[in-house]
Amino acid sequence: MNERVIGYIESIVKERPALISEMEHYAEVHGVPIMELVGIEALLGMLRIQQPKRILEIGTAIGYSALRMAEALPETTVVTLERDEERFEAAQRFLSRSKDGNRIVTIFGDALELSEVVKKHGPFDAIFIDAAKGQYLKFFDLYSAMLTENGVVYSDNVLFKGLVAEVQVEQKRIRNMVKKLQNYNTWLMNHEQFDTSILPVGDGIAISKKRGDQW
Ligand code: SAM
Repeated sequence: MNERVIGYIESIVKERPALISEMEHYAEVHGVPIMELVGIEALLGMLRIQQPKRILEIGTAIGYSALRMAEALPETTVVTLERDEERFEAAQRFLSRSKDGNRIVTIFGDALELSEVVKKHGPFDAIFIDAAKGQYLKFFDLYSAMLTENGVVYSDNVLFKGLVAEVQVEQKRIRNMVKKLQNYNTWLMNHEQFDTSILPVGDGIAISKKRGDQW
């Protein structure tokens, strides 16, 4: 989406509560990659329609998207995973200041090693993947088994600033990440048990709906 349109949407999005604005400011000052405003608003819109009762989030950072989801869905529990200690502690501090924080379960560690712990909190109606881009396929494989019958997996950053559409990417590290995301997108679009659509909002969000009736 072009910058003017993004700026326009941002200018008319409702003002956020003070704690949320403080988290947005903290993320900017400390260089923490939280979801883009237009992206999180689109995700919240989809979640308001879906009304999941339990959400699993992979990638808490400072708890921004977890808190936004909990605020938007007052009946919902969010279980969220983070492996960076400093961010995890910042998330604990922010979430303890919100009345909605008691519906957010924060778990510290590498998501690829936490499935047994996470299983005890499931099953989940929605899974939100927003962590290491190179590992999306592994996250999906590991945790989609914990989805309820008609569950949905939302994956952020699948367009990676548009780089997935580039023929040639200069930097090797970025190129590898782009390749992994391209593989993930293709794999997801062809997954037999899910119907997937990719929305070009924020950094690109894939919505994968489980074909509950057939499997
Ligand atoms: N969802 C957050 C938000 O919008 O507020 C932003 C998450 S940030 C883009 C990604 C986070 O995932 C980082 O803080 C990173 O440390 C964490 N992460 C990456 N790989 C992970 C893994 N394998 N297990 C747990 N956390 C991971």
